[in-house]
Amino acid sequence: MNDQPKKSGLLSYILFILFALIIWNAFVQQSQTDSPISIDYNEFLRTVESDKFQSIVIQSTEKGGSEITGCCVKDKDGKDASYNVFVNNAALPAFMDILRAKPKIKIFPRPIRETSWLMSILINWAPMLLFIFIWIFFMRKMGGGVSAGGIGGIMNFGKSKAKMSVGHQVTFADVAGVDESKEELVEMINFLKDPKKFTRLGGRMPKGVLLIGPPGTGKTLLARAVAGEAGVAFFSLSGSEFVEMFVGVGASRVRDLFENAKKNAPSIIFIDEIDAIGGKRGMIIGGGHTEQEQTLNQLMVEMDGFDPNVGIIIMAATNRPETLDFALLRPGRFDRHVVVPRPDVKGREEILKVHARKKPLAENANLTAIAKGTPGFVGADLENLLNEAALKAAQKEQETITNSDLEEAKDKIIMGGAERKSMVMSPAVKKVTAYHEAGHTLVAKFVPGNDPVHKVTIIPRGMSLGLTGTLPEEERHNYTKSYLEALLPMMMGGRCAEELVFKDISTGARNDIERATELASNMVKKWGMSEKLGPLNYGKDREHEYLGFQIQGAQDYSEKTAQTIDEEKKQIIDKAYRKATDVLAANRNILEALASALLEKETLTGEEVNNIVKQFKISQAN
Ligand code: ADP
Ligand code: MG
Ligand code: ZN
Repeated sequence: MNDQPKKSGLLSYILFILFALIIWNAFVQQSQTDSPISIDYNEFLRTVESDKFQSIVIQSTEKGGSEITGCCVKDKDGKDASYNVFVNNAALPAFMDILRAKPKIKIFPRPIRETSWLMSILINWAPMLLFIFIWIFFMRKMGGGVSAGGIGGIMNFGKSKAKMSVGHQVTFADVAGVDESKEELVEMINFLKDPKKFTRLGGRMPKGVLLIGPPGTGKTLLARAVAGEAGVAFFSLSGSEFVEMFVGVGASRVRDLFENAKKNAPSIIFIDEIDAIGGKRGMIIGGGHTEQEQTLNQLMVEMDGFDPNVGIIIMAATNRPETLDFALLRPGRFDRHVVVPRPDVKGREEILKVHARKKPLAENANLTAIAKGTPGFVGADLENLLNEAALKAAQKEQETITNSDLEEAKDKIIMGGAERKSMVMSPAVKKVTAYHEAGHTLVAKFVPGNDPVHKVTIIPRGMSLGLTGTLPEEERHNYTKSYLEALLPMMMGGRCAEELVFKDISTGARNDIERATELASNMVKKWGMSEKLGPLNYGKDREHEYLGFQIQGAQDYSEKTAQTIDEEKKQIIDKAYRKATDVLAANRNILEALASALLEKETLTGEEVNNIVKQFKISQAN
């Protein structure tokens, strides 16, 4: 990030304020000097005598006298005229005496209006500068791009930049492949449609919903669709727009945003990329980003301060939930989380269909095949794919988009033609991942003591390529040694499967190894689960006061003990690895079946896994 846009943004503010001053000044002067009718002294006195004046303004000037303006009482036509006369300093005392004899007339003396040379230059140049200003503004509007910081933006200075829209075209039908996320949002929609129905019995609706998912999965789209489905006003603002400006502007925008939303309730406030303002405060030791902090504080104040029952829901989106300030996630704020994951094969096909609605596809276009060949693609990638294909077809002057256009577009994006850094998986990586996850799953199923598998997927999420999710039947607060001895082989299962099948290993097990090592280390050093070392604590870790993460405690044991600790850790991991390998080797056929099911469907539920496993005779490895 460079500073440039900020600076020119600042400059344009100063310019704008200057203009406003000049123009205002010019108008004020005009309205005071132009509109009164100039009359002569005698006539003015006659008007004073006839009690027509209601008020009189005496403006001293530098011309050796005063400009006297008298405002009349409204005449029969309802018009009010004002008259103007110049009285020199010598005649002023006598004039004042006449006025004082009329106590009904209000007198407003004004001091000399000084016009500095700078002001007069500015006033003379105002029309010119105004012209330039308008010109720049229009250039920007047309995309000419004068001064990166946004002269356009200053038109909304201090105001919320939130775009409000009602009666949108976006509905749930436009968002495909994220059915689970949609389901979680249905409640919000029903609430927004009829807030009273829900709060009748004193229930409190959630205020904040946080959409979490990788870029391009449709978070923004989903938020719009919620507003569209409920038919309510939608105020959206991007987190980065909050922080681009002066100190204090971010906070005032937040205020403004909430005010607008309240006026238009029921409504949705959507803060896109909330990590831009909602980052952890005080991350930078010694002076953080105060503007960001102010904005964040204001957001939380507003969130705490309003009554959700009027029918306002605040939605926010992020692809980096881990960077968010914990205070934002507290109950009463963004306490509802909806994950928007990468779509699986079926989801990708649905997304392709959504975007193909308005495109003429040829008979041979096979969206199912394209969906199969694009693991890791998100909605935005798929939209991009169809767009590329349409361009290619147009270039070749075809009437429809053929399958080969689609294939070409797909290859172009996979080869890195796409700007977006998407987690696009090559078929080889996909295959390795399928075996890896199948390995975890099988070990979890066959080593007694593991939690049931509820889902396994090879859709990349976050840093990892796939995921095998186990869900304990009850919440665990305490691990037994036997549980850990079952868990460790399951963690190793991925790597073991890779080695067994491909006779080669990949970096995909990095996270597994890290977690397993930490567990083994804790077993030995903290939980006293090593027979050799016994129930002793080795090396107390401390939480860092300010940083909030752990720093390794001082080594309070001998070198010899350190060596034993390492040996014990290694022994625990080795044992787990052997166990996993034994299980997988004995049930190689099931591993193959699971892997190929994963390759085809990408995501399997626990039940689907069970159905596959049921078809085989399980060999118990010992
Ligand atoms: P995010 O906010 O998660 O980064 P967006 O909502 O901005 O993603 O998605 C960008 C574009 O990609 C959308 O405008 C839409 O055209 C397409 N898109 C993304 N996800 C989906 C989806 N699930 N269904 C249909 N289109 C999608
Ligand atoms: Mg977005
Ligand atoms: Zn793994």
